[in-house]
Amino acid sequence: MKKVIALTFAAMAFFSCSKKDANFQYSVEQFYDLEILRYKVDGFEALSTQQKALVYYLSEASLYGRDILYDQNCRYNLTIRRALEQIYLNYPNKDEEQFQLMEKYLKRVWFSNGIHHHYSEDKFLPECSQEWLTQAAQQCGVELSDEVLSVIFDPAVMAKRMTQQDGVDLVLGSAGNYYGEGVTQAEAEAWYAAHKDLSAEPKWIGLNSQLVKENGQIVERTYKVGGLYSAAIEKVVENLKKALEYAENDQQKLVIEKLIEYNETGDLQTFNEYCIAWVKDLESRVDFVNGFTETYSDPLGITGTWEAMVNFKDMDATKRTEIISANAQWFEDHSTTDQKYKKEEVKGVSAKVITAAMLAGDCYPATPIGINLPNANWIRKEYGSKSVTIDNLTSAYSEAAKGNGFNEEFMIDDAIRDLYNRYGSMCGDLHTDLHECVGHGSGKLMPGISKESLKEHASTIEEARADLFGLYYMADPKLVELGLLPSAEAYKAFYYQQMMNGLMTQLVRIEPGKDVEEAHMRNRQLIAMWVYRHADNKEVEIVEKDGKHYLQVNDYEGLRALYGELLKEIQRITSEGDYAAAKQMVEDYAVKVDQPLHQEILARYEGLHLAPYKGFINPVYTPVFDADGKITDVTIDYTESYIDQHLRYSRDYSPLPNIN
Ligand code: ZN
Repeated sequence: MKKVIALTFAAMAFFSCSKKDANFQYSVEQFYDLEILRYKVDGFEALSTQQKALVYYLSEASLYGRDILYDQNCRYNLTIRRALEQIYLNYPNKDEEQFQLMEKYLKRVWFSNGIHHHYSEDKFLPECSQEWLTQAAQQCGVELSDEVLSVIFDPAVMAKRMTQQDGVDLVLGSAGNYYGEGVTQAEAEAWYAAHKDLSAEPKWIGLNSQLVKENGQIVERTYKVGGLYSAAIEKVVENLKKALEYAENDQQKLVIEKLIEYNETGDLQTFNEYCIAWVKDLESRVDFVNGFTETYSDPLGITGTWEAMVNFKDMDATKRTEIISANAQWFEDHSTTDQKYKKEEVKGVSAKVITAAMLAGDCYPATPIGINLPNANWIRKEYGSKSVTIDNLTSAYSEAAKGNGFNEEFMIDDAIRDLYNRYGSMCGDLHTDLHECVGHGSGKLMPGISKESLKEHASTIEEARADLFGLYYMADPKLVELGLLPSAEAYKAFYYQQMMNGLMTQLVRIEPGKDVEEAHMRNRQLIAMWVYRHADNKEVEIVEKDGKHYLQVNDYEGLRALYGELLKEIQRITSEGDYAAAKQMVEDYAVKVDQPLHQEILARYEGLHLAPYKGFINPVYTPVFDADGKITDVTIDYTESYIDQHLRYSRDYSPLPNIN
């Protein structure tokens, strides 16, 4: 998949890492449906001074893009954010209830990088009154026009950041700022069609620009130095130039140089060269993403949303994936799949595990837990791609979830909870590694068959295949032998959790009465439901205790055999491109929800008062300079609060005007 994996809570709460720190405060605060966490940057202190300095300047280059994202999300966002911040800082009576409601709204605006929910994309309204906000603004000398007030308070104005509704003009119906006022979907599509690039190395036309209407004509405004968002991009470039001085090697130097050139010229051919250089840089310990990247927020899927992340390789965890990858052929040979669907020669992928050091733009505060770039298919085909998982973020999710009552509510007894506390997180990591390093790469297709043969069910089936490959091997003594698991019991924690999640607890993300839609959720339910319905010897069942339903596993070895049986069939469907069977499989097991059970799960979950969406506070990096202005060290601090961080970013990293 060519996208950053943006999973929300239910999946994340169960992945994790072995690095724990009882004294570190992972969970900071909660408001509305949001929870604010901190992440720990393990290993930062052990980096070389050069690497620390590189992280520092790349982080600075990241933070300067923040305003760009606000403006891309909606052209009123910067005006509104700044007005609220001025009121927040200057209003005299901070004890007033109305003030506190405004503060809550501002915290939400920061979280969403604007006035629309980061996930649902619906506009949210403040709970303070329009009258109060109007007078507070006057009192603080802040200008709030009627137009801006209606954008804040009128539910009908700019109601959706992005619409995907049938029959609605996707461009006019979206509040996002990828297209100027009055540009229609038809006009934008016609412009893109006319400017399509058909060269051998196609350029991603429109990736870094806004289309606006001037005198009835569509005009492209390119994001670059001297173009749209120039003031912010200049600061990005300035810090990339400083980072260049600390680059680890020539290849990384080339990456940074190409990115600087691209920011200065906006030339998409240079962007291609940058992507290729970036894919080829496998040696550097420090790595980063910085710029207009994912295109999900543009209703036409063309223009990139600004995002940034600085990270460095986690050496221990990467070793783990190398062991798996080195044994790829053994895994292929010993799986339950039919001999004719096995690869004679299989190559494992050694997934890189990274530690995030700075999150920014569309990766902040809500963030992906994996990166898979670049997005241009022809570059992926010719030069490959980099796929990474971000262990310190998944670890933060999991640590923050400890003791929140979830497992106490949904797991059947102390025995399984104990097992899960001991092994759950390491099993989660290991399963992700098996899925990525050997799962997707396993098996072969019959002549003439492609993965697309399964059409709309291709990704559900493919994810199920990779998951099952991992599930089947989780219980294999080989993992203990390879030193990847400490005990032959450990896998049981993961089996229990997989079944509980797929059959029951992931339903907390589904609204009452709705079906399961998202491919990863479908895949998890497909596996759990198929196994549950085929458990003829009661290997696994759902039992009732004091009016509540629980998953009970009676035979873990039997459960493994069922996973193996399903793996065999899913591999057959994939290898043969059996669309009818794939469709049947998805419809029978993956989509429909047991209504009474769903209601029960939702009620029990609501009683826990947990926030479904999480986001992060970044650490603060402070450089130490010598007399010549050279960095001699960079210190890291985790104590900044959510509010202080956003106010500081708005004060120190906010070069753009209100209207761009
Ligand atoms: Zn996958």
